[in-house]
Amino acid sequence: MEPPHRPRQPGDGWVECGCGLRHWGLFGAAGLLLVRRDDGGRATAVVLQHRARWSHHGGTWGVPGGARMPQESAADAALREAAEEAGIDRASVRLRSEHVLQHPDWSYTTVVADELLPVEPSVTDAESIELRWVPVEDVAALPLLPAFADAWPSLRDRLDAPDQVEPVSP
Ligand SMILES: [Zn+2]
Repeated sequence: MEPPHRPRQPGDGWVECGCGLRHWGLFGAAGLLLVRRDDGGRATAVVLQHRARWSHHGGTWGVPGGARMPQESAADAALREAAEEAGIDRASVRLRSEHVLQHPDWSYTTVVADELLPVEPSVTDAESIELRWVPVEDVAALPLLPAFADAWPSLRDRLDAPDQVEPVSP
């Protein structure tokens, strides 16, 4: 269904950021952190993406995500990328909160969502080696994408916090 190399999209490109680094996504980037919960509502697992070797920081684990398009909200971008890269249907998830990493000329938004209907992520394009549910307690032991490794401790602490945003309809 998906071509092995999708066409270039309007937000694709590198930003020379005031922090001194280059980042992917002319309008920033966003990713989906999908959370599975037990009957008590406690977070038990999250969907992670084992990134293709050829990609930036290839071979590491992160969340499905990518460059935002012009005028695209972080939530819409995260849901679009999760559908493209992991076959995650937006009707199966419920948005919960957003966490923004703000740089001088760029931002990365982690969109946290709960699994509403059973989700079995799968590799649907060339950007992934594997997608799977990873137990929350096992995440930190994986070789993580550096930016995700930095964000994970505070994201993990907030996984069981009360909702911060209203659900957004597709
Ligand atoms: Zn920066």
